[in-house]
Amino acid sequence: MSQTLEHRQLDQLRSVLRDRAAQLRDEIRRTLIRSDEEQYALIADQVRDLEDESFADLMVDVNLAEIDRDLQELRLIDAAFLRMGDGSYGLCDACGSPIEFARLRATPFASRCYDCQSSYERTHYQNIGHTL
Ligand SMILES: [Zn+2]
Repeated sequence: MSQTLEHRQLDQLRSVLRDRAAQLRDEIRRTLIRSDEEQYALIADQVRDLEDESFADLMVDVNLAEIDRDLQELRLIDAAFLRMGDGSYGLCDACGSPIEFARLRATPFASRCYDCQSSYERTHYQNIGHTL
């Protein structure tokens, strides 16, 4: 399967992902600091200088609903970095086709092409709506 993204496009997406990850880590850190748990404040202290992978590991022990979404997105971003490393980034997980660049620009951690994502969502939400 050929890599269809140009280097320039890949660099652009990588820096979008990197910025977003930094922003998420910052949000998570601030939420930890605001929480009443002393233990979380300690973690917040440690996370400042961590690499992405250790950050996710450290967060396994944190159980705050407020950061669930951020952590989820951060994991998707981590997975995208891994795919960039092994060359599978930009290719659909389900069908192997290249994911549209416009789609990646909107959702840089997307792992499915538009069609596969649509049918995935149809399968998972098929019982919602359209009931007479
Ligand atoms: Zn696909």
